[in-house]
Amino acid sequence: MGSRLWTCPDCRRTFGRNGQRHDCAPALSIEEYFSTGPAFERPVFEAVLAHVECLGPCQVEAVSVGIFFKRGRSFAQLRPMQRWVALSFSLPRAVRHPLITRRVVPYGPHFHHVANLRTPHDLDDELRDHLTEAYLDAGPVGGFVAGSDARPDA
Ligand SMILES: [Zn+2]
Repeated sequence: MGSRLWTCPDCRRTFGRNGQRHDCAPALSIEEYFSTGPAFERPVFEAVLAHVECLGPCQVEAVSVGIFFKRGRSFAQLRPMQRWVALSFSLPRAVRHPLITRRVVPYGPHFHHVANLRTPHDLDDELRDHLTEAYLDAGPVGGFVAGSDARPDA
């Protein structure tokens, strides 16, 4: 059984939904990605990656604007800002954290969170737990098990 992720024919990146809208740009290797950008970015990325790798299979995708972490769909993203790395993730509930300074935005059944990480130490146990929850919520690669609540696209 292969993965049911959709591959964009133009940029060759994969997505959880067929024809999903995205910034259509080819993925970079991690080394290419980190050949530019602020020096504080990579240690934060390594801290997030170290946690995510403990959770199970995951796809890491670097594009010019940031790095996506994907399971059945994207569950977290790192985006470099002037003085910190913005870690965004979606959860089925709204959570609070001192580093989540932006308003938590609801969309559909999810809440979009952004935490500002300046160093790898900013990724504390609480944020790691939130990442775990986002990972589990994003479902396995290939989507839901056929025959449960799978429905053909209308
Ligand atoms: Zn594309």
